[in-house]
Amino acid sequence: MSNAGAVTPAGAWVQPIKSRRGFEVILDQLEAALLSGELSVGDRLPGERELAAGFGVSRTSVREALRVLEALGLVEVKRGIEGVTLRNEPGDAFADLLRLHLALGHYEARSVVQFRTVLESWAAAQVAEAADKAVFVRLSEIVDRMADDSLDPLSFHALDVEFHESLIEVCGNGLAALALRGCRTVNRQAMLDGLGIGEWAQTLTELHREHQDLVDAIRSCDPAHAAAAMREHIDRWSLRTVERPGT
Ligand SMILES: [Zn+2]
Repeated sequence: MSNAGAVTPAGAWVQPIKSRRGFEVILDQLEAALLSGELSVGDRLPGERELAAGFGVSRTSVREALRVLEALGLVEVKRGIEGVTLRNEPGDAFADLLRLHLALGHYEARSVVQFRTVLESWAAAQVAEAADKAVFVRLSEIVDRMADDSLDPLSFHALDVEFHESLIEVCGNGLAALALRGCRTVNRQAMLDGLGIGEWAQTLTELHREHQDLVDAIRSCDPAHAAAAMREHIDRWSLRTVERPGT
């Protein structure tokens, strides 16, 4: 039982307060200003000197913060009077970051496959439901080009990327499209490795048929059928590459 009124000695929970780096404090304040609506896209930030005085930090810290914001795709830094503005468009910074994490192996290839399955089966269902004839024609046209038996693995892969990215882009969810683009590095290497196994002519025939089946399922305008076809397509791709014996 504690002795009421007695002072409890400092335990492990009492740690020296670490001073934070200047640019981290700037990032926090900027985030707070964005969330509160004080700042919004397209706004121009004050000059370096004014920011340094306002934050009470060195100009080097301000420059460091701006470089971080630029690399994250949040601001656009221009020379001259335009200075630093908050970007209207996200750019590819997020996709690039995801790609680098994947390239470093921070996420297992299987995790990427599962993530793609969720994302792309959702996209296939959306496209089937929207029943937009122009989209069906566009996807069919890409699949028709896959029928060319003079395609090499690299050219086929480019068509495959075009097919999957077109499908997700028409869903109108920029974040989903960007996430799929971010997965491209891992997809590309695994896919090219997988395409190099066995007889290429036979692999090409099978892959063309798989995409044709997928387009037929999407054209059925049945979201559940389209989603199942996409899951099956990605599963087969995974068996051919990520899950193959010896990997
Ligand atoms: Zn495919």
